[in-house]
Amino acid sequence: MKTVIRGIGQIVSGQLGAPLLDGDTIVCVDGKIAQVGRESAVDAGGADTVIDARGTTVAPGLLDSHVHPVFGDFTPRQRTIDFLDSELHGGVTTMISAGEVHLPGRPKDPVGLKALAIVAARAYANFRPNGAKVHAGAPILELGLTEADFAEMARAGVTLVGEIGLGSVRTGRDAAPMVKWAKQHGMTVTIHTGGPSIAGSNPIDAETVIEADPHVVGHINGGTTSMSPREIETLVGGTRMALEIVQCGNPRTALHTLRVARDAGAWDRIILGNDAPSGTGVVPLGILRTLALLASLGDCPPEAALAMATGNTARVYRLDVGLIAPGREADLVVMDAPVGSVGTTALEALRAGDLPGISMVVIDGVPRVGRSRNTAPAARAAEVTRGHVPGGGH
Ligand SMILES: [Zn+2]
Repeated sequence: MKTVIRGIGQIVSGQLGAPLLDGDTIVCVDGKIAQVGRESAVDAGGADTVIDARGTTVAPGLLDSHVHPVFGDFTPRQRTIDFLDSELHGGVTTMISAGEVHLPGRPKDPVGLKALAIVAARAYANFRPNGAKVHAGAPILELGLTEADFAEMARAGVTLVGEIGLGSVRTGRDAAPMVKWAKQHGMTVTIHTGGPSIAGSNPIDAETVIEADPHVVGHINGGTTSMSPREIETLVGGTRMALEIVQCGNPRTALHTLRVARDAGAWDRIILGNDAPSGTGVVPLGILRTLALLASLGDCPPEAALAMATGNTARVYRLDVGLIAPGREADLVVMDAPVGSVGTTALEALRAGDLPGISMVVIDGVPRVGRSRNTAPAARAAEVTRGHVPGGGH
């Protein structure tokens, strides 16, 4: 199966070191990106599907490093259905669970929490809401877990550990041995930081994070209450951990993290998440809103911000998405400045603080979403000129 996206005005690579690519055409074969370049220089013939990007911007499908799914496309936290599909309409093609914490009656004993993690990992491996890739099965660490429990979960397909601190494991000393076991068994580990998100749990400070030694400093700008600027500086300068900035956190410390990381040459460690569903709500455009914050108020070139939301996250979680490069899974978002923006391209709109209008989302080379039902309308919209036309919103 061959898909060609032609007529592209700007290709954003998802790679921080070379965030913009030369070319106007992307060729996808059997769900993977095969070639990127000028139409005259690539093999664009014989495609089953042809998309004309009409001079607009194509970026890798966005990643959300911090979602809280439960089962299917329903969240009990905000009594909302289709929230995953709704986020796909915000350009997010890969979502990573930071824990299935909103399951009513979530079991906290080792047998129950292992069962939940395994069911979530396997159920979401089988369930692709409108094609979106949901990586779930992120157990919340509770006292009493043993190395054998991590081995058992890993054998059953669990690759993540959810936010440390939401369960009974909330000190560095309790967390450290479990993090070591999780790492030995190939899992990627994140930790809650800052003030508690719900009554009954404790704040987690920089010292606890350093002692626990996870891969990811979860919502370094708070979920929702942030650590202090000093603690953020400690974690940026004193560790090599990934630094997760979220939408449902503190915008002031988001920008502080961005500046401190820039000065430390550590933008490659920044990843972007939504931290939704949460008390803040379901935020389908949360990743786009975070991109606009960083690009408009944070002095961050929009193509670099996009790399944080794509290639950086894919690297941290070892996923084969997030870059426009041969061999990568062909997950793409086509966008332009929204109608009425002072910007004339998607990147100019972000720099001006506006959210781009999405006119198509492609997953594994297949157009899944036409005009987004959630973004403002793109000034220029991509069009399928051969093959199956996806549904849209407006
Ligand atoms: Zn949290």
